[in-house]
Amino acid sequence: MYAFEYHRPTTLAEAARLASGNEDAKILAGGQTLIPTLKQRLAQPSDVVDLGAVAELRGICEDGDTLVIGATTPHAEVAASAVVQRLIPALAKLAEGIGDAQVRNRGTLGGSICNNDPSADYPAALVVLGATVHTTTRKIAAEDFFTGMFETALEPDEIVTAVAFPKPGKAAYVKFPNPASRYATVGVFVAEVGGQVRVAVTGAAPSVYRWTEAEQALAGGLDPAALDGLTVDPDGLNADIHASGEYRASLVKVMAKRAVAACV
Ligand SMILES: Cc1cc2nc3c(=O)[nH]c(=O)nc-3n(C[C@H](O)[C@H](O)[C@H](O)COP(=O)(O)OP(=O)(O)OC[C@H]3O[C@@H](n4cnc5c(N)ncnc54)[C@H](O)[C@@H]3O)c2cc1C
Repeated sequence: MYAFEYHRPTTLAEAARLASGNEDAKILAGGQTLIPTLKQRLAQPSDVVDLGAVAELRGICEDGDTLVIGATTPHAEVAASAVVQRLIPALAKLAEGIGDAQVRNRGTLGGSICNNDPSADYPAALVVLGATVHTTTRKIAAEDFFTGMFETALEPDEIVTAVAFPKPGKAAYVKFPNPASRYATVGVFVAEVGGQVRVAVTGAAPSVYRWTEAEQALAGGLDPAALDGLTVDPDGLNADIHASGEYRASLVKVMAKRAVAACV
């Protein structure tokens, strides 16, 4: 680990001031990704701004038909929240399926989406539900937020403060978890949003995407058989020691059918 200045602000304004204009500063949330990255000397920030004591960034609330989750809310809190379970039960189930108990108690919604690991679960929820990412300077539509593998639309000194999820109709998320980490080898989120069925896929490609062919096939209703005629092109899909592109292509369809069948 390289030496850096550690800061633990207690307000968002102070955190924003510490990060502002300093391209070499790094935000620390749950540390589940950042700490190993620092230990392996893959990053050399001049300053680390820990959001852990900024109370205003943590919590879950209902705002009309929208669920608002603070950026530093850990996965375990999302999974256990009665508000999330009532408004978007599929989101609570997604959070419950992340990693193990330690990861769920330390890892945060904001850290997950800012890291944008291609196998992370939350990006599928944000994209399928048409969520909005709130930052210190603006609001970003989920589909504009995730721009590539480990890349987002964030500026270096921009801090995610919360995510607003509109309440869907029927919805379900199903993944084929890596047996060690539980990351999604492939995960598919299906949801009724504004009278239309939407399908988002994570794990398969460099970044989350909507499977528009499946959305068209499901326009007549949430019937898993409607996807029978579709094939997924493995070209350009992720291929690694965990799964080939061909295997991931097959999983996309299988997970999508299971998610449609699980929609409640
Ligand atoms: C063993 C293991 C298993 C895991 N399994 C899964 C899984 O099954 N599914 C899954 O989806 N994820 C999984 N994860 C990822 C984990 O859930 C965390 O979400 C992820 O590691 C990052 O979240 P964090 O809060 O720890 O962020 P950190 O590590 O603190 O930060 C990650 C990155 O985001 C930036 N950042 C953090 N918060 C903000 C913010 N508010 N604004 C701007 N930038 C910010 C940091 O600067 C850093 O670049 C796993 C991780 C581990 C270690």
